[in-house]
Amino acid sequence: MTQEISIQLTTEPRTRPDSEKLGFGKYFTDHMFMMDYTLEKGWHDPRIVPYAPLQMDPASMVFHYGQAVFEGLKAYQTSTGELLLFRPDKNMTRLNRSNERLGIPEVSGDFVIEAIRTLINIDRAWVPTAPGTSLYIRPFIIATEACLGVRESHTYQLIVILSPVGAYYSGGLAPVKINVESSYTRAVQGGIGHAKAAGNYAASIKAQSNAKKGGYSQVLWLDALEKKYIEEVGSMNIFFKIGGKVITPAINGSILEGVTRASVLELLGSWNIPVEERKISIEEIFEANAKGELEEVFGTGTAAVISPVGELYWNDRQVLINNGQIGPYSQKLYDTLTGIQTGRLPDPLKWTMPV
Ligand code: PMP
Repeated sequence: MTQEISIQLTTEPRTRPDSEKLGFGKYFTDHMFMMDYTLEKGWHDPRIVPYAPLQMDPASMVFHYGQAVFEGLKAYQTSTGELLLFRPDKNMTRLNRSNERLGIPEVSGDFVIEAIRTLINIDRAWVPTAPGTSLYIRPFIIATEACLGVRESHTYQLIVILSPVGAYYSGGLAPVKINVESSYTRAVQGGIGHAKAAGNYAASIKAQSNAKKGGYSQVLWLDALEKKYIEEVGSMNIFFKIGGKVITPAINGSILEGVTRASVLELLGSWNIPVEERKISIEEIFEANAKGELEEVFGTGTAAVISPVGELYWNDRQVLINNGQIGPYSQKLYDTLTGIQTGRLPDPLKWTMPV
């Protein structure tokens, strides 16, 4: 679709937050992008409007049956003041994969990227500049038809909001403590785990809050059937370095395929480091540790980029990884990815796109 985006600017710009107080996802910029879908018109009426609460019918299907998908990506400011998006095409491909699974009509990824760029340029003054900060971009689609029948909605709204966010780790990369979740399940084969659907996050919240209460920072998810194979960590993909090789769970229908995961796999490949995408059991991790071969564990995702794991707890068993220190692969991947994202390092694979 190549429709003109209409623009209505705010007459009441808000005060921008101090960069030290940003945190994650607490502040939103002055404008948002919206467009609507109907069966008759398809996606139409793309517009940028002042950021404001939505007015919705209480019978809107999203409130009842959860037909909602979203994406998360970031824009980074370079030292020369340019803004870069990191692999936005990958987020759009995943958005349409999520749409397909939830029965939501496809969107033009190129058009949504164009809308995001237009929106960011309007709210450019909101992009934080302190080291480690960025502009988080949240596109999402909700079912808006007022109907209590359980079926796909006939109307939708796509919205993009922007949030200036702080450095994920204020003191640099910090290894985290993880609890292996043995009772709750995030996603099942044939379900919606491979989609970035709101319902997956609803399914994860209880385990995550129990983990927090127990002093852990995240949950390590196992497969639903046998509670044996590793899937993901919190809202990140997970990697293990065992005896010089890097292993990550293969994409299997219940794991969300991360953009950071794909980028890490490509970087490791380009450094000639042996990588395996396969099933990996939690038992294998504990055995590797017993043999002294478990060298590094790290999560990958847009929010933290690389998140080293320092300790893993599985029922009454515990492993301490690399003495709770950041491993060399975690550090090198973090430096390389953030270097490319912020324009400090060359970008041979053309992963970034100027806003
Ligand atoms: N798994 C889950 C469940 C997630 O929510 C995310 C964050 N989008 C990821 C993995 C990592 O994906 P990405 O690298 O694209 O941020």
